[in-house]
Amino acid sequence: MLALSSPSGAGKSTLARLLLEADAALSLSVSATTRPRRPGEEDGVHYHFIDRADFAARRDAGAFLEWAEVFGNLYGTPRAPVEQALNAGRDVLFDIDWQGARQLQAAAPDDLVSVFILPPSRPELEARLRGRGADDPASLALRMAAAADEMSHWNEYDYVLVNDDLAACASSLRAILAAERVRRRRQRWLDAFAASLCSHDYKGDPDGGGQ
Ligand code: ADP
Ligand code: 5GP
Repeated sequence: MLALSSPSGAGKSTLARLLLEADAALSLSVSATTRPRRPGEEDGVHYHFIDRADFAARRDAGAFLEWAEVFGNLYGTPRAPVEQALNAGRDVLFDIDWQGARQLQAAAPDDLVSVFILPPSRPELEARLRGRGADDPASLALRMAAAADEMSHWNEYDYVLVNDDLAACASSLRAILAAERVRRRRQRWLDAFAASLCSHDYKGDPDGGGQ
């Protein structure tokens, strides 16, 4: 499980998209939310857009792996698709806030890798939010105020990237995923494989070493 967090506007969705395009073994966890749909967003693709009563019913039924309130809206990670993907041997990418990352960390400390994305500066963060054009002035001010709170959690993450140059940041993210995949404890098949390589009963290849 790879969790990406950042203040809104730092570039997390853009980086997530680039990573998903580059990696066929990675699935995106599509969250449920009570926030209204933005122009260009598709139900079931960007989020599952549901109302508060539906959210509460699903939450109370234990259908979320984690959930949190962000900017007055509820967000939650549906449990079933994540478990299905993990059971099928896939890795799962989460675009969630610090509260969600903390809950996943507590639930599965050995299976979670967390990455925090910082913007290069506050003016640049504001410019990106404006440029995205998705927020009215009131919600833009709310997001800028909330950014400071979100960013104060940067030191709870395994990795921290400053998203200045997008291509460089995306490349670092791919490198993190590649390195984490070859961690010894994640390669459970290694025990048997290494035992066969390390055993002293090798008698030579009758075919001449594969030539
Ligand atoms: P988030 O998902 O963190 O809210 P987005 O991925 O939607 O942020 O990015 C916010 C805006 O900033 C988008 O318009 C995006 O194209 C732009 N952006 C993202 N990364 C960079 C970058 N490194 N340099 C310049 N603009 C960027
Ligand atoms: P936005 O409304 O801009 O799409 O997202 C607002 C914030 O909610 C972002 O920080 C995003 O990462 C976070 N978020 C989105 N989905 C979830 C979720 O399922 N759980 C949690 N904890 N946070 C989420």
